[in-house]
Amino acid sequence: MSRFLLPRFSSLSPYVPGEQPRDRTYIKLNTNESPYPPSPEVLACLGREDLADLRLYSDPEGIALRSALAERYGLRPEIVFLSNGSDDILNFAFLAYAADGKKAYYPDITYGFYPVFAALHGTRPTVVPLREDFTVPAEAFCENDGLVVLANPNAPTGLALSPAEIETILKANPDQVVLVDEAYVDFGADTCLPLLSRYPNLLIARTFSKSRSLAGARLGFALAGAGLIDDLNRIKYATNPYNINRLTLKIGEAAVRSDAYFEENCRRIARTRDETAASLRDMGFSVLPSLSNFLFARHKAFPGDALYRRLKERGILIRHFSAERIRD
Ligand code: PMP
Repeated sequence: MSRFLLPRFSSLSPYVPGEQPRDRTYIKLNTNESPYPPSPEVLACLGREDLADLRLYSDPEGIALRSALAERYGLRPEIVFLSNGSDDILNFAFLAYAADGKKAYYPDITYGFYPVFAALHGTRPTVVPLREDFTVPAEAFCENDGLVVLANPNAPTGLALSPAEIETILKANPDQVVLVDEAYVDFGADTCLPLLSRYPNLLIARTFSKSRSLAGARLGFALAGAGLIDDLNRIKYATNPYNINRLTLKIGEAAVRSDAYFEENCRRIARTRDETAASLRDMGFSVLPSLSNFLFARHKAFPGDALYRRLKERGILIRHFSAERIRD
């Protein structure tokens, strides 16, 4: 760190991504990527001319991809917003709705980037403890006076609230934005999409990184009422109007147009998940009933850090969390 950095950044603890070691080939389970390649249509969609076209800026409005997404989800393109990974939507939401001492509410055990965005933007966070069984206490998110942020399904638990519970939260917070991070929704949870038309305070974040096998392309999108989309655009056009590169826009379109392939992958992943959970239970693990593409497990006889180290020695990478409540 240099002596030039502003104090508000020098005291910040940045997000620590899941490790990407290069020393050997691992069975890599630590960043929730897809085990399957993108669809054949995606693999075939780029040619030399696309690379030659890199001399030109990308479409700042991303019209073609937004239209494809709108058609896929039965929405108007005006209420689709594209981002460079869905992390950018989360960043924009904290900046737009919770910066400079405003409040935000999120669970104590959730996606590790929320506290980082809160710290980055000077948000005053209220951290709501999950219940003993790791479910989200929906009632604790009602009548909040700040941005509400919920990963649904939650990470790393894999547990989800129902759309009815989210609706209760939306109803109870008509003057606050409720950000529902649906990064993992395609693996079995119910989406809040049907609530969009009735709740102008609902902001849904989605990603191509998980169910569409495109983590490396960095593509996310938001679905929300026109007002919130307008807010996100204000921030985008004040930071980086060409936030999605030309290749990713094209890849994203091919991915949306081959969604049947990705849906089949999601079913396969859900089957593998459930079989793996059953095997782990047979081995003495307690495993939460995940609706995502990862499992959250604890063994009664082995501490979490030992499991992490021994598996790594055997070429299997998992994520170990050191926070008190979940360190095993
Ligand atoms: N939300 C949650 C809950 C996540 O786990 C992740 C992936 N780490 C993201 C958002 C961000 O994904 P991306 O930026 O790759 O779209």
